[in-house]
Amino acid sequence: MNTVSTNLSSDELLEQIFGITQSLYSEMCKDDGNASNDHAEIFRLLTDLGKTLVSSDRASFWKWDKRSHELWTTAAVGTGRITIPEGTGLVGKALAEKTAIVTNDPYNHPDFNSDVDRKTGYITKSILVMPISNCSGEFIGAYQAINKLGGDEKFHLEEDCRRLSLAAFICGITLESDTFLDDSQHDKLTELKNRMGFYNDYNNTYSKLLSDPEITHDLSLFICDIDFFKKVNDTYGHNAGDAVLKHVADNFRRNVRICDGLYRWGGEEFIVVLPDTTLENAAESAERLRSIIEASVCHFEDLDIKVTMSFGCTQIDPALSIEDNIKNADVKLYTAKESGRNRVIV
Ligand code: GH3
Ligand code: MG
Ligand code: MG
Repeated sequence: MNTVSTNLSSDELLEQIFGITQSLYSEMCKDDGNASNDHAEIFRLLTDLGKTLVSSDRASFWKWDKRSHELWTTAAVGTGRITIPEGTGLVGKALAEKTAIVTNDPYNHPDFNSDVDRKTGYITKSILVMPISNCSGEFIGAYQAINKLGGDEKFHLEEDCRRLSLAAFICGITLESDTFLDDSQHDKLTELKNRMGFYNDYNNTYSKLLSDPEITHDLSLFICDIDFFKKVNDTYGHNAGDAVLKHVADNFRRNVRICDGLYRWGGEEFIVVLPDTTLENAAESAERLRSIIEASVCHFEDLDIKVTMSFGCTQIDPALSIEDNIKNADVKLYTAKESGRNRVIV
């Protein structure tokens, strides 16, 4: 179903559409025990559906990630995941103006970005971008069809949007579900992943590293907690406390490796997971963060607030449950608190 035939009879077109919707249905009903389905296969099928409906050579669904202020797609054919800043390119323009865009002369369109063509050698001749909203009318993504096949090889705004609306409608609901899933795994205040995000990453990534039959991976984690945080709230108010939590999260984000997992475990407690890291190196990483926080100042309104943090580190023992591993780190954190705070215990 990957090749798009042009000039199909109505019956042939319907047959193709039903083939794709049947696959979509089967994909949704697939109970493979993976509750955190990332919808990748559904997006791939929706891309096929859109290509079939408008008869285009390529297609991609774009998600507007409002947390990272980016637009990204995984469905572009022949390339990996592409990320662009929100508001840029034809997709950004269609979303900003909440309107569909057609160009049959992209190289002369001011918003067309030819980087992908330059990198891949593909030549874009025509583009249709249709913005997609969720069920509340909020725009959350876009469908992009590239290179109209058959006929005059041009997209026609009204006719092609009408055809694409079926795929756009289903895609809107899928993107919305994807957004709900993502939101449920993030903390609104710090924008770090929350406890649910931690368990999702543990099941999908960390546990697989731990049971990798090819290589033994050292996986360490530390749990850390702001010292006397209640005093911050009591002295300066809850909003100042919130600002301190954001300040800590921002400093952590800036100072961990891209492969490290950063989570708000609860209240003023954070967990950092360090793949391929020994306990000794995890302790060094914790010590670096401890001293960064100690040296930093949180500016909130006209206040300069300083805090310290205590850390408990452990190397994950694959023979134990994740709860027991966290308990091991928590015991060290407790020792750090008991022995004077603002320190790392291994
Ligand atoms: P310790 O050094 O032993 O960790 O003392 P502590 O005061 O930091 O610990 P305690 O558990 O007594 O207090 C934690 C406080 O964190 C209590 C709670 O109101 C506050 N807190 C939890 N979540 C939030 C939040 O999202 N925002 C704000 N402002 N405060 C929060
Ligand atoms: Mg605390
Ligand atoms: Mg605490």
